[in-house]
Amino acid sequence: MAWDFSTEPEFQQQLDWMAAFVREEIWPLETLDLDQQRLDRALRPLQAQVRERGLWAAHLPPDLGGQGFGQVRLGLMHEILGSSLYAPSAFGNQPPDSGNSELIALAGSEEQKDRWLHPLLAGEMRSAFSMTEPGVAGADPTTLQTRASLDEATGEWVVDGHKWFSTNASVADFLIVMAVTDPDARPHQRASMLIVPADAPGVTIVRDVPTMEHADERFGRLGGHAEILYEDVRVPAENLLGGRGAGFPLAQARLVPGRIHHCMRWLGVARRAFDMLCERATYRVAHGSVLAEKQTVQNWIADSAAQMQAARLMTLHAAWKIDTQGPAAARTDVSLIKFYGAQVLHDVVDRALQIHGSLGYSTDMPLEAMYRFARGARLYDGPDEVHRQSVARQILRGYEPPPGDVPSEHVPTRRVAARERFAELLEVVTSND
Ligand SMILES: Cc1cc2nc3c(=O)[nH]c(=O)nc-3n(C[C@H](O)[C@H](O)[C@H](O)COP(=O)(O)OP(=O)(O)OC[C@H]3O[C@@H](n4cnc5c(N)ncnc54)[C@H](O)[C@@H]3O)c2cc1C
Repeated sequence: MAWDFSTEPEFQQQLDWMAAFVREEIWPLETLDLDQQRLDRALRPLQAQVRERGLWAAHLPPDLGGQGFGQVRLGLMHEILGSSLYAPSAFGNQPPDSGNSELIALAGSEEQKDRWLHPLLAGEMRSAFSMTEPGVAGADPTTLQTRASLDEATGEWVVDGHKWFSTNASVADFLIVMAVTDPDARPHQRASMLIVPADAPGVTIVRDVPTMEHADERFGRLGGHAEILYEDVRVPAENLLGGRGAGFPLAQARLVPGRIHHCMRWLGVARRAFDMLCERATYRVAHGSVLAEKQTVQNWIADSAAQMQAARLMTLHAAWKIDTQGPAAARTDVSLIKFYGAQVLHDVVDRALQIHGSLGYSTDMPLEAMYRFARGARLYDGPDEVHRQSVARQILRGYEPPPGDVPSEHVPTRRVAARERFAELLEVVTSND
């Protein structure tokens, strides 16, 4: 029976190298508040080291210049990279480029790979995924209103719509746009994905929407969430990604592994917050003892450790399922970790912030930024409620109403059945009395 939680020694060495590299070379950059240009310059020599080490763009198969790690090894890697917002960029697998490159690798034509994927992997291009719209529920993408219609005369797709929260769109070279191409088809067959160059006429990046993560949003920064107008935007027919009407299956193919990456990155953030929580407990004295001696703080530490361990095992198990049985088999597991992982991230960061008091609330510690970051995790890639609903529906498929609506475990009913079944035994016992 195979049941193995160990990591191959060679890969563990790589993980150890990554952990030291991220901590020593990337964490210090966080304190400098570099603009995008300077940050790119600072990251370039680090990216060269990552390439030399054979860890660049590890999410893709080797024939596309990646390492073909599979989700479990990628997960372990993302746990380390997640500790810093800059680390994924140093390793060539920052979202949303990582998910978009997986998407083009999966569904793109050879020409699309040459034109968009290879430059994306080489770090010469950036991309965004443009699905959510301000006017309809992003949680239910069957309501999308952005339209793409085929102009038979020119053979071009014409895109019209209004999107927002397209992460990185204001610095992107191209956008993967989800649009309705077949309004009369069944809900999950109506939409398609199109590659739209960011400088195509009719694309207007209106603004980067200020958020609780970046309230002082400046236009054109990595990590910004853009509002975009698509007005009579024309792209050639060959910019359709995957088949016509394949938008929903493609979105699932992109989001299922992407959620593993998110959850493991969140564990990296949670771990960093947990270390701060424990460190603070060792020296801060209040009411006659260090905080480590207060039972509430001990509960926080124990609860955080338990939650992180649970989330880690659940996420790696879901990753293993994708590796061994494919993304479709892991859908429920991935929904489980999406809402549970986001909760764990929030809880651990919240406790770490709390134990630091006013210092935790200040920008002298990274905790307030982590707290704001953690809140978004409950929304993007599907809000908590939708994942809970999906898990519950899946689980409930294994249940049906009991005969006569009497609960299967109803003791008096079971007793009647048991008395019949064991009548002989009961008879003997009674006669021996
Ligand atoms: C930081 C961040 C980055 C993002 N990046 C991208 C991106 O790159 N590209 C992109 O296209 N989008 C992106 N999004 C958008 C994100 O995917 C949507 O916000 C999300 O899908 C929810 O859609 P909505 O905001 O329209 O909320 P709505 O769909 O209006 O939902 C609002 C609330 O309604 C409730 N709700 C919805 N459905 C149910 C239900 N079935 N049962 C119970 N309650 C329910 C939930 O509480 C939900 O939070 C990003 C969002 C954030 C916060």
